[in-house]
Amino acid sequence: MQPVNTLVTGAMLVTMDAQRRVIRDGAVAMAEGRIVAVGPSAEVAAKVAPREVIDAHGFVATPGFVNAHVHLTETLLRNFLPEALPFDEGLNQWVIPLYQGHTPEEQAIAARLAVLAMLKTGTTTFLEAGTLIAFDAVAQALEGTGIRGRIGRWCMDRAFAPGDDQAALTRAALDAFETDLAAWPDDGRLIAAWPLLVGHMTNTAELWQAATAIARERSLRIAAHMAPAVGDPEWYLANTGKRPVQWLADLGVLGDHLSLVHMVHVDASEVALLAQSGTHVVHCPEASLKGGYQATTRGLFPEMAAAGVNIALGTDGGDRHDLMPSARLMAGLWKDSRGDTALFPAESALEMLTVNGARAMGLEGQIGTLSVGARADLVLHDARRPEWVPLHNPAQQLVWSADGRGVHSVWVDGKRVIEAGRCTTIDEDLLLAQAQDAAQAVVSRSGLPLRMAWPLL
Ligand SMILES: [Zn+2]
Repeated sequence: MQPVNTLVTGAMLVTMDAQRRVIRDGAVAMAEGRIVAVGPSAEVAAKVAPREVIDAHGFVATPGFVNAHVHLTETLLRNFLPEALPFDEGLNQWVIPLYQGHTPEEQAIAARLAVLAMLKTGTTTFLEAGTLIAFDAVAQALEGTGIRGRIGRWCMDRAFAPGDDQAALTRAALDAFETDLAAWPDDGRLIAAWPLLVGHMTNTAELWQAATAIARERSLRIAAHMAPAVGDPEWYLANTGKRPVQWLADLGVLGDHLSLVHMVHVDASEVALLAQSGTHVVHCPEASLKGGYQATTRGLFPEMAAAGVNIALGTDGGDRHDLMPSARLMAGLWKDSRGDTALFPAESALEMLTVNGARAMGLEGQIGTLSVGARADLVLHDARRPEWVPLHNPAQQLVWSADGRGVHSVWVDGKRVIEAGRCTTIDEDLLLAQAQDAAQAVVSRSGLPLRMAWPLL
């Protein structure tokens, strides 16, 4: 009998293992942060001597979800920005000034609120958007929350203003990478730095190539925003004569180390370059809907999937950190827009939440699966809730009926971070009070108006 820390038994397991087994009465044994046994409850019970047994009858267990693109420090701006803003005006007159108007303490509070919202809805690993300004304050604030994440400093090096010293901007960005990668190395700790880029048109060829060299040498990953709106392809065509993915291909920076985020306005030649190079794509359907990106009318996501491009999902900005509704949108938007119910079945949407996100982060086999040897990241969904009853097909139920509010318990690396819906690592009431105060301070200092259509009495 193998001694283990925790045995979760009696759950319906949606394993996301290589065979995609679903086990009606299953168990997961965890020891030293890893899954050491998984299978039918009786078989696992015969093999292990647990210190703690969790009776999970009435629960559906999945791997922890992987949010492959999330902004941690937009959380305090949740639903403050008007809906009807052109992309550039929203970014330049609202989002960026508000970002820069946070104190380090406010950024830390915003990030902890994002992490709390992710953990409580089953996300155990995230890839941040490369938009942290108070990098160290945020990194320190995330330590101890128990979530796994890869984070990056706000990195835009292209000289736009007259008088900007291009070489100095790029050098400063590279220096910042070196500082952050040394301070928060990806050495097995839960929170680590990667050389992430803001992307769009804000990064130079020199920085793209230098960041890529760093990622390849040190087995790290890069992510960057690209082509949510027509502005990116228009800028690249006007300034380089090439579409964005072609420009990146000619720089030699496409590949398995790279995730490009949004990728709505691409053409067929770019889809082929993504597929050939093994570059990952992260779609953020919630952002596309709110931002009017035209993903369903202009996007080539079904074509990307058919070409073999690995697609993962992200929640993007601060409005919602529950990743499960993104899976529902992914499963449904193209069924509707293309009139084809065979597009993106629930199973494929669940792969995007788990194994595809793991691949995009270079953690395939380590996370996103309930398999022996994987990190012990486990979510129990309470199948006694009304949206879970009756339960016929758990894959469809997870995508079409459930959401993160049904998450009851979460383990990351074998540590229980959510228990009966409450976070064990964050004082929730204190954080929510801090977040409300901090949000009011940020928006009042900004001078930007709350534009409500209705009178607020
Ligand atoms: Zn983003």
